[in-house]
Amino acid sequence: MPPPQVPTPLEPVEDPRFDARGITLSLKRDDLIHPHLVGNKWRKLAPNLTAAAGHPLVTFGGAYSNHLRATAAAGRLLGVATTGVVRGDELADRPRNPSLARCEADGMRLHFVDRSTYRRKDEPEIRAALLRDLGEEDAYLVPEGGSNALAVQGCAALGTELRGHADVVAVACGTGGTLAGLAAGLGPDQRALGVSVLKGGFLTGETARLQDTAFGGPRGRWSVTDRFHCGGYARVPAALEAFAADFEQRHGLAVERLYVAKTLWALTVLAEEGAFPAGTRLTAVVTGAPEPY
Ligand SMILES: *Cc1c(COP(=O)(O)O)cnc(C)c1O
Repeated sequence: MPPPQVPTPLEPVEDPRFDARGITLSLKRDDLIHPHLVGNKWRKLAPNLTAAAGHPLVTFGGAYSNHLRATAAAGRLLGVATTGVVRGDELADRPRNPSLARCEADGMRLHFVDRSTYRRKDEPEIRAALLRDLGEEDAYLVPEGGSNALAVQGCAALGTELRGHADVVAVACGTGGTLAGLAAGLGPDQRALGVSVLKGGFLTGETARLQDTAFGGPRGRWSVTDRFHCGGYARVPAALEAFAADFEQRHGLAVERLYVAKTLWALTVLAEEGAFPAGTRLTAVVTGAPEPY
């Protein structure tokens, strides 16, 4: 297996929307970290696969979960058996969607559960019964979305790599795990801005909880904006699509739509609103790449 490319490159981009305000924008190319396991998924999963120490790994997700797909890929690369518990028992007998097909191609065993059981998967009795059914009582468990203490600690390296190179670092938030680690790794004169891709306004609380789990308390300077989710997870309205396509044209970067496009859009809108003083060095973390399918 090829080793990860760390530190990942930091690339300046020339963009009149930022230049006009005396702001610079750079891209932290975490999408280049590893050819088979991109971005924050590498940073979050690699320490967990090491900790699994040969035990099979069980994790959880929806039918289109990036985290499930990344776990399957990581399991294949690192020789760890993986089981994915998937929300929705009605999917069991249907043809696999491309995301789940990819999981199976990477050797992941899929186990479909009904939605009410899935919702209660973190309750001790429900979980124990689930693992018993699977014959996986000894498994190493990774939570839905992959954000546990080790994952957050793994993302701190993203912050340390950026020390001295940026004033404000923007990153997309699904669970908040990447933001929690990034903020902890940055220097005291830097801050992280989380861009929530989910509706509901819970990411400030979740990120704080994850920092508590990983570090025993708050770390670094960070905040979350809830203005750029565009209607919720996986919603890509026409205006966002147009923005992303234009960004690709201008800068030759393939823009992943569900997370990275919202992050770049947030920085562009905030810069145009005058949210950053002249001289600010902005960095956007490119946490992933578009799917090949
Ligand atoms: C999973 C994912 C995220 C979200 O990371 P969290 O740690 O869950 O907040 C961001 N960007 C991309 C491309 C992802 O796949």
